[in-house]
Amino acid sequence: MKVSRMEFRMLIDGELIDESEHIAVENPATGLPFAEAPDCSRATFERAVAAAARTFPEWRRDVEARAAVLRACADVAEANTAEIAELLTLEQGKPLTESAGEVALLIRRLRSFAEMRLEPEVVRDDPERRVTIRWEPLGVAGLIAPWNAPVAAISSKVAPALAAGNTVIFKPSPFTPLSTLRIAELWRDVVPRGVLNVVSGGDHLGPWITGDPTIRKISMTGSVATGVRVAQSAAVTLKRVTLELGGNDPAIVLDDVDVDDVASTIFTKAYRNCGQICIAVKRVYVPRALHDDFVEVLAGKVREVVVGDGLDPATHMGPLANAPQLERVRGLVAEARLNGCDVLDGASLPDAGGYFHAPSLVVGARDGMAIVDQEQFGPALPIVAYDDVSTIAPLTGREQYGLGASVWSADPERARSVATGITAGTTWINSHLLIDELQPFGGANMSGVGFENGRYGLRAYAEQRVLNEAVA
Ligand code: NAD
Repeated sequence: MKVSRMEFRMLIDGELIDESEHIAVENPATGLPFAEAPDCSRATFERAVAAAARTFPEWRRDVEARAAVLRACADVAEANTAEIAELLTLEQGKPLTESAGEVALLIRRLRSFAEMRLEPEVVRDDPERRVTIRWEPLGVAGLIAPWNAPVAAISSKVAPALAAGNTVIFKPSPFTPLSTLRIAELWRDVVPRGVLNVVSGGDHLGPWITGDPTIRKISMTGSVATGVRVAQSAAVTLKRVTLELGGNDPAIVLDDVDVDDVASTIFTKAYRNCGQICIAVKRVYVPRALHDDFVEVLAGKVREVVVGDGLDPATHMGPLANAPQLERVRGLVAEARLNGCDVLDGASLPDAGGYFHAPSLVVGARDGMAIVDQEQFGPALPIVAYDDVSTIAPLTGREQYGLGASVWSADPERARSVATGITAGTTWINSHLLIDELQPFGGANMSGVGFENGRYGLRAYAEQRVLNEAVA
């Protein structure tokens, strides 16, 4: 075990704070509680906000000093990768290699945001006037994370928020607070007191953050339903809002593909993290003529998956991250069966309790079924056979979601013409689930508001201020 201590406290105003109340954290591989996190009280929350507000004027002053802090945070995370990764697997369930990949992403983004600068832009400069746009931080940022990728959420929220000169209140999900609490504890010696504050606890905490008048920026990743509540609450004090919400990414396969190759690649894009990735492939549209061959290849892959505890190096796929998510996926699969779908699985499940679900293919699925229309966020992939690509739901322009999508074809021109007909934040051709650090990441339709990553993600934590000067 790399995790040396199972005590977790919140970093508030530079101190490690416990509470009299706690929330239990379960290991999804056993279904049993294995640690506790403080349940943040109102008084502690207010102390965190006051500390962030107090430290903002100093923190915003010196971009080079901030960059040095971000680099130091990256070094600390790097030196403690093994412990953070193990904690993440214990609380979330994903295989250790995926957890280590998430810590590596955090380190990369901290280093990359440390080097980025929001340079002023002169939009008019003549003998009469000079007009300059400066990018200024917003103040205290309230950052709210989901349970599927808690460390990745720190990388895409805390890193740019701090880099742009904001101070932070960060809230992990009640299901997965531990890796975040440990990271903040490790950063205590390198981040100035009060600049980063982490609050853990139940779902009461989110509305405290979105309703707090001192907090000027909200960035929240989670479900569409929660995103709507966050937007409503943040609107009362007109906070700036970034929402990274659910997705129901289609992979649209055209009739000229190499079935073996494309089905095998799509398999790798659908089941990672047990299907619990916002931009995993969540449904596959296949021409009827290729359908049976396509299903055969996917079914073969699904049978080879080794399901188990993420700490076991032999494991390909861990459990779902929590009991409600397991129930949700089971419900969608059961409903698909009732609607006449065949469910193909094959992997045997560990019998040691835990929230395991076999990797499954839902064959005979159609638009209009819940497993196709809704985000399943689990290892049950519906395959929809189609006759005319223009009639499938992702090309009708009436979708609720719009996070990611992909088109698969041997003909780049055809692929591009289908891809540009899809409304999604990111559309891939002959790939999926690839995030280039320099491209903006965000959702269309109800999959989100605003963008994260790279320069676009940094700008989300700053606002334009115009300086209009008389030159003469
Ligand atoms: P969730 O919406 O249940 O919770 C997200 C966060 O919001 C948690 O920290 C939760 O405690 C908090 N919260 C709950 N109620 C709140 C309220 N009223 N006000 C403020 N905060 C509140 O989401 P989840 O189940 O943790 O995560 C899974 C969802 O996240 C999926 O839909 C997935 O697609 C989505 N997701 C999206 C992205 C993206 O970048 N678009 C990335 C990862 C996950």
